[in-house]
Amino acid sequence: MSPIQAEIIAWYLANKRSLPWRETQNPYFIWLSEIILQQTRVDQGMAYYHKFVDAFPTVFDLAKADEQLVLNLWQGLGYYSRARNLHATAKQVVHEFQGVFPSSYEGLLRLKGVGPYTAAAIASFSFDLPHAVLDGNVFRVLSRLYNWPTPINSTQGKKDFEKMAQELLVQENPGLFNQAMMEFGALQCKPAQPNCHDCPIQVHCEAFGAQTVDALPVKLKKQIVRKRYFVFELIQSTPGTILMEKRHAKDIWQHLYQFPLREFDDAESKQVYLSNLNASFLSKEYKHILSHQHLYCHFVGRDMQSSDSAEPISILELDQYPIPRVIERFLEDYGLDIFESKAI
Ligand code: SF4
Repeated sequence: MSPIQAEIIAWYLANKRSLPWRETQNPYFIWLSEIILQQTRVDQGMAYYHKFVDAFPTVFDLAKADEQLVLNLWQGLGYYSRARNLHATAKQVVHEFQGVFPSSYEGLLRLKGVGPYTAAAIASFSFDLPHAVLDGNVFRVLSRLYNWPTPINSTQGKKDFEKMAQELLVQENPGLFNQAMMEFGALQCKPAQPNCHDCPIQVHCEAFGAQTVDALPVKLKKQIVRKRYFVFELIQSTPGTILMEKRHAKDIWQHLYQFPLREFDDAESKQVYLSNLNASFLSKEYKHILSHQHLYCHFVGRDMQSSDSAEPISILELDQYPIPRVIERFLEDYGLDIFESKAI
């Protein structure tokens, strides 16, 4: 083992957090944790991991679950396509692989929603196969350790970092080393204020020597953010009910439920609509940020019209429907009383 590898492993054994998915080699649990942790912080993801493991102790349980229950459990994590992929992959494992996760990197890549990163994680953690994991933490550690300027989100960057990660991997214990690199990036070589002054690999760290730590890793500029202007309409067909519709289009929040929605191209046309609407209720504005979209949302109460075609549901059963986080935020702020106290 090289001195760098040995130092990183020693650091990991002394500093690692105790996380439930590190106590198992069961590929189902490891896959679950990896999908949940994509774009989610560990402390937030932990509660969801436990919820899913409790509700679906095996891949067979998840595969036969009702989609609505899966989306309900996922609620609050965002990126609902991940929940749908999770469910679809469980079905694929059961139907195509008789409930047994593939035990090779290539086999794992055949699973829906499993890309090179997740395949390497499962292959190394569950099956001790020598595939280096490259997540955001590992990119950062490598870019600093080797003072590497290629953008990590460019095609060339991906190739360079894959090569570096694979070369640094401890072949005899790839699962442990992958965990160590990820944890080292998460706790020691952090994005802001990395702990360079008390770092076991400082003498090997080229960025530290060159004083370029804060400039790494390099990333290409993000995609332009799309702004969308939403008005959710709260419409009671009869007292105690509210109109809801399911989202079918290939867009955000597919298969979730919402109050009937009007979308506008810009803030001005939305404002004109709101000013002309004889609304019984108008909420404050909610700004909701998704990865490439900013949503500006209002909630209004209005009378039913003959053209309204959404389904009435009982207000008391609202919590049984998977809904987008922004609607949840609105309900948390205003409470269910809003439906009774206002003449919506
Ligand atoms: S010296 Fe600083 S930048 Fe280099 S590996 Fe250690 S924590 Fe990261």
